[in-house]
Amino acid sequence: MDKNEIAPHVKEIARVLEGKVEESKIEEELENYLNVYRVSLDTAKRSVVKGFGGDPNALNKSGGRRKVTDIKGGEASVDILAKVITVNPKEIPASDGKPARQIVYGIIADESGSIAYTVWDPQRFQMRPGDVVMLRNCYTHEYNGRVDLTLGNRATLEQMPKDSLQNIEMSAPVSSSAGGPAKVSELADGMNSVSITGRIISVERREVPTEDGTKVVFSGLFEDETGRVQYSAWHDFELKPKEIVRISRGYVKSWKGVPKFNFGEKASVTRLTLDDVPDLGSGKLKPRTILDIERIGGATDALVSGTIIDVKEGSGLIRRCPQCKRVVQKGACRIHGKVDGAPDLRVKAVLDDGESTLTIVMNRSVTESVLALTLDDCVRQAQEAMTTDVIKDIAEDKILAKPFMVRGNVLSDEYGLMMIVSEASPVEIDVKEEATKLLADLEGFQ
Ligand SMILES: [Zn+2]
Repeated sequence: MDKNEIAPHVKEIARVLEGKVEESKIEEELENYLNVYRVSLDTAKRSVVKGFGGDPNALNKSGGRRKVTDIKGGEASVDILAKVITVNPKEIPASDGKPARQIVYGIIADESGSIAYTVWDPQRFQMRPGDVVMLRNCYTHEYNGRVDLTLGNRATLEQMPKDSLQNIEMSAPVSSSAGGPAKVSELADGMNSVSITGRIISVERREVPTEDGTKVVFSGLFEDETGRVQYSAWHDFELKPKEIVRISRGYVKSWKGVPKFNFGEKASVTRLTLDDVPDLGSGKLKPRTILDIERIGGATDALVSGTIIDVKEGSGLIRRCPQCKRVVQKGACRIHGKVDGAPDLRVKAVLDDGESTLTIVMNRSVTESVLALTLDDCVRQAQEAMTTDVIKDIAEDKILAKPFMVRGNVLSDEYGLMMIVSEASPVEIDVKEEATKLLADLEGFQ
């Protein structure tokens, strides 16, 4: 049993012993029972509690099915009956002498809601989307305000009849009329009757033509402590920027992988204060992992840090057709033939956060700020050097193999995820070390 898996049990024993015994001592004793005496976890826990003079009956009863929405971070023995919504195999690249390994991650759901899961040993757990499974002895942790379920060494999986869970559609936290609560980072295409709690960042009123005449839609950005999402309200709830609300009975539709939260007349909006949602914090964006965004398929205004590992062809000084804005190659537009292209700057690169990679695209203004050069500067330098290659060389000098924090919308297509960068800045921290640490936290490397 690794450290990550044992930690919640140590906490539980510490709680039963009312904090009278140091956690390090409890951990030592517990490991002794498990690894030296080789008794079952339940027996080991009871023995440790008894040994320190506590009441073993005060320990949580193991087993007993739990609902997704009742699960908290740092739990040790979670049993859950759930439908498998997504199964994504993934290779974690080799690093620091550890070999590459396969993992599986995805989303499972029950009638109460959905939760992300990770499997570190996929060979032991065969599951496919649509399966209904009884998972036992999983453990959880909380990361960026979201609870994740891990199937570790002690976990077991049992296939159940498909009808043992009903009322689960798509990845929907379908349930009560109040709607299943979800974090912004969990919103995925097809979810129904979802409620989210957070802050309205912006509101814009638009009139859109529909089959039933012109409709007024209020749209903008919404955030909670896990991320941001675009919303559209098809009814006037008199939303105002900066107000904190719970929106119930919304639904999620994705566009190019980016989830969008929609709600209409049937929805309800409850006004709250920061006291009701203390986790919401300052409104500063928290960084997300690429893996986390891959799980969903896209993101709105996400912050990601990593190392630029490739600057792609077509980066630097380019020319665009004045009529259609397509990139001009060898003096000709694919549609309009020979044209006098207007100069533009862009960078296409690949960002690696230690777990996964993301294609990033920077437009002219972001590229100018990253290169600390204006478009005019670049045109001049290219003229002097008699080649535009010089600008790509400068871009490589400035960003290749360097850690960067990038921010923007993340879309997905058949080539994978792509961020349209709105801000990029070099970071001082050792991203690789950070990522390795994060991975170790997740995995509980010994
Ligand atoms: Zn053209």
